[in-house]
Amino acid sequence: MNATELERALDYPWGDDLPAAAGTLEVAPGVKWLRMTLPFVLNHINLWLLRDRIDGRDGWTVVDCCIDRPESRADWESVFATQLNGLPVLRVIVTHMHPDHIGLAHWLCERWNAPLWISGTDYQTARYACEVVNSFGGDRLAQYFASHGMTNAGDLEEIRNRKSYYRNLVPTVPASYTRLLDGGTVTIGGNAWRCIGGYGHAPEHMALYCEALDVLISGDMVLPRISTNVSVYEMEPEADALTLFLDSIDRFMPLPEDTLVLPSHGKPFKGLHTRIQQLHDHHRDRLQEVMEAAQAKPVSAYDVLPVLFKRPLDLHQTTFALGESVAHLHRLWYAGKLKRVRDADGILRFSLPG
Ligand SMILES: [Zn+2]
Repeated sequence: MNATELERALDYPWGDDLPAAAGTLEVAPGVKWLRMTLPFVLNHINLWLLRDRIDGRDGWTVVDCCIDRPESRADWESVFATQLNGLPVLRVIVTHMHPDHIGLAHWLCERWNAPLWISGTDYQTARYACEVVNSFGGDRLAQYFASHGMTNAGDLEEIRNRKSYYRNLVPTVPASYTRLLDGGTVTIGGNAWRCIGGYGHAPEHMALYCEALDVLISGDMVLPRISTNVSVYEMEPEADALTLFLDSIDRFMPLPEDTLVLPSHGKPFKGLHTRIQQLHDHHRDRLQEVMEAAQAKPVSAYDVLPVLFKRPLDLHQTTFALGESVAHLHRLWYAGKLKRVRDADGILRFSLPG
């Protein structure tokens, strides 16, 4: 089935309706959907405004922030002026440390004197990423890609010289935070929202589920149309990220099938169990294709790129794709279906064991 056919198996309560630019759409009592533009292939992010009351003050909890650029700050200014009923932002919750989610947290928190709530691992990783030059990238990333079969000297040089991509989108993060823990509860507007930790996409992603409203803020862990990026990179080169991800999405299975899912990209939908099954099927098929390639001859992650990605990739896309390719090979390797050997050329290749 293609993406459109898969999408038909899901129910979109708002059909093709989207919130107007810098406007909102109420998707559950006290829960507003806000959508901001991103200057990437993934061209938007969904953010959520939750009516709240903290320490006797009425206001809003914001979930996720968008990247830091003048256009997003301007979008927020219109939201403040028109969508908050004259009330303040009381708290900023961030599902995970990726730039589109945390970029403007420092600005929102400072402007409203509001605290940041986020998982401990994602807070520390974000802080490291924006305080250390070339925290992601530079020499170590080039060496890592070389060990996975990227041999073009020009490509490797470009990666070596890449300035910190993260710091352009996330100049800083707030100096303190309140820690979200898996299984913990956050009270928002008198409702209990349970934190559900997820792995494989970000270091420690937090989704939030409210039983009273039957609403799941799924972040990037469950998306309706695209499959979540699951990659292995140089900071944690031995990670079994795909297994972590697939185990993590199963943790949403106990929630009701008709839960309203609020994803960070795409439209709010119902059909949670169906979507989780689709994601398992998708990765099972990709893993099968990788196995077939490795049966023919030992393969590096770079060799597997055309198996996993049928379209031509530029260097920027290749760096993301290579991370995903390693994640697929690692799942098969950790499961004992492939063995790994570092060849005399320094490249890691995966093949059938025995
Ligand atoms: Zn993300």
